[in-house]
Amino acid sequence: MRLLLVEDDEMIAESVLGAMRRAGYAIDWAEDGRAAELSLDNDVYDLVLLDLGLPKKDGIDVLNAYRRNGGAAPVIILTARDAIDERIRGLDAGADDYLVKPFDLDELAARIRALLRRRTGQKQPVYTHGELALDPAAHEVTLNGAPVALVPREFALLQALIEEPTRVFTKTELEEKLYGWGEEVGSNTIEVHVHSLRRKIGAEQVVTVRGVGYRLKRCG
Ligand code: CA
Repeated sequence: MRLLLVEDDEMIAESVLGAMRRAGYAIDWAEDGRAAELSLDNDVYDLVLLDLGLPKKDGIDVLNAYRRNGGAAPVIILTARDAIDERIRGLDAGADDYLVKPFDLDELAARIRALLRRRTGQKQPVYTHGELALDPAAHEVTLNGAPVALVPREFALLQALIEEPTRVFTKTELEEKLYGWGEEVGSNTIEVHVHSLRRKIGAEQVVTVRGVGYRLKRCG
């Protein structure tokens, strides 16, 4: 899952980025309205966290343009306590939810899960592949029905693979799914995650395709 945070307050941004990365999301940060538009034009996001009072271009204008261009990701607006007008304008412009600053990071995480669940709920809420099952909303993985404890990056890696179980992913594609742009990614980072994931779910589950990348084992 890839998120975009649009926020000019560096302290708020740092705390949100940290919390979302610990929760296993890849998250990018745009510091002003123009940067946000550029990101939304060039990348596909699963959800957007949008501050409204932004330098260079107002958050409402960013949201209007995004929806006008067919952008469909859920948007949570982040607004000041007294700005009821802003909230209404934001919802009218196509936001899905809002949070009033200062907000609790656990509440933000819960709102994000709820919106992502609503969106994926129309498709398939739980992915299964052979002995494996992955529930994105509950953040749970089971192997033959027994729960497997994965750290967030292992979870994100398995989710990427299980969403498209016949596809071979290159390391670069997996890095994009697991990390936001600002984050350091070591040259063998994906190998390390694959190794630790294999230890937990069985080495045979994740197949190395020499010279290309990784996919799940074939089954059925
Ligand atoms: Ca602001």
